[in-house]
Amino acid sequence: MTVDATTLEALGWCEQRQKAFATHAGDGLLPGRVVGEHRTHFRVVTQVGELTAEMTGRLRKQASERSDLAGVGDYVALRLSVGDGPATIEAVLARTSAMVRKAAGEQRPQLLASNVDVVFIVTALDGDFNLQRLERYLALVRDSGAAAVIVVNKIDLSKEVSAAMEQIAAMAGAVPVHAISARGATGIAELEPYFDGNRTVALIGSSGVGKSTLTNKLLGHAAQATQEVRGHDNRGRHTTTHRQLFLRTLGGSIMDTPGMRGLELWNSQESVAPNFDDIEELAAGCKFGNCLHDSEPACAVRAAVVRGEIEPERLASYIALNRPHQRG
Ligand code: GDP
Ligand code: ZN
Repeated sequence: MTVDATTLEALGWCEQRQKAFATHAGDGLLPGRVVGEHRTHFRVVTQVGELTAEMTGRLRKQASERSDLAGVGDYVALRLSVGDGPATIEAVLARTSAMVRKAAGEQRPQLLASNVDVVFIVTALDGDFNLQRLERYLALVRDSGAAAVIVVNKIDLSKEVSAAMEQIAAMAGAVPVHAISARGATGIAELEPYFDGNRTVALIGSSGVGKSTLTNKLLGHAAQATQEVRGHDNRGRHTTTHRQLFLRTLGGSIMDTPGMRGLELWNSQESVAPNFDDIEELAAGCKFGNCLHDSEPACAVRAAVVRGEIEPERLASYIALNRPHQRG
C-alpha cells in the first residue's frame, strides 16, 4: 500500500491524539500506529511512511507485564534512526481499549490488540447458534473498553430469523444487533457507520461463523495495510505476521488478530469463570474458614455434594480454579 500523510489519519490519528502527543513532538519524536507485530520487530505507519521499529531496551525493562509492551493497534512515539537501522519506539500512548488474553495457567497477561473502538461479535444462524456463548463474548468485550455490536450472520440459512433476533435483542439490552448475510451482502451497509471517524473494528466469534467473509466484504477490494510485511523483513528473512491492522479504502481499519477470534483462545479467566455463588454461600457454613472442601471435617460443601445438591464435577472445577489464591 502507499502510505502518505493521510494514512495515519485513516488509521484513527486525530486532533485529540495529536494534542496528547505534544510533549513527544517537542522531543522530536514522530507519531505512528503499530499495524503489525513480528517476533523481532513492529511495523508502524507514520506520516512519512510505513517503518520497521523496535522497542527501546529502556521501555522493555520498564514494562512489568507483557501487556505493557507495544502491540498491534498501539499509537506510539518513534525516533527515526539516523542510518539504515530500525526506528525506535520511545513511548506507547495511553490506550482507549485493550484486548488482553489472560489464559488460565499463563502467568502474564498477553496483549492481543489495542485501541479497538468497536467489536463485532459475529454469530451465525446455522444450527450452531448458542445464546450463552454470545453472552460470554459480550462480557469479554465489556471488559476491554471497546463498544460491542452483535452481528447475526447467515440469515439466509434460517427460517426463524425474527424469533432469533428477538431472543438476542432481549439478552443484548442496549447493545445493537444487526442481521446480515455476509455471503449474500445483505445488511452489510448497516455496519458502515461503525467505521465513521476512522474507527477501528475487530471481529470475534467462533470459527465458521463468517468472520473472514465479512472482513473481506468490509475491506472492499482493499488495501491490506500490512500486506507487504507478510513476505520478508528488511533483513530478508521470512516472517509471518500474526497480528495486523488492515486499512479500509473507505476509512477506518479492521483488526485481524487470530488469537482474539475465538473464545477458547481469548480466555479471560475472570470473565468466563463459571458462577460458583451457590458453592461460596455453602462454604460460609463450613466449620473452618479456610476449608478447602476436600477432606476437612464438617465441610458444608461436601455435605451438599452428598445430598446431591452440587455436582461433584462442579466442586472439582471450583477447587481447581480457586486453590491458587485460596483465602486463609
Ligand atoms: P470464519 O471462520 O468465521 O472466518 O468463517 P468464514 O468466513 O471462513 O466462513 C465459513 C463458511 O461460512 C464459509 O463457507 C462461508 O462461505 C460461509 N458463509 C459466510 N457467510 C455466509 C452467509 O451469510 N450465508 C451462508 N449461507 N454462508 C456463509
Ligand atoms: Zn468446606
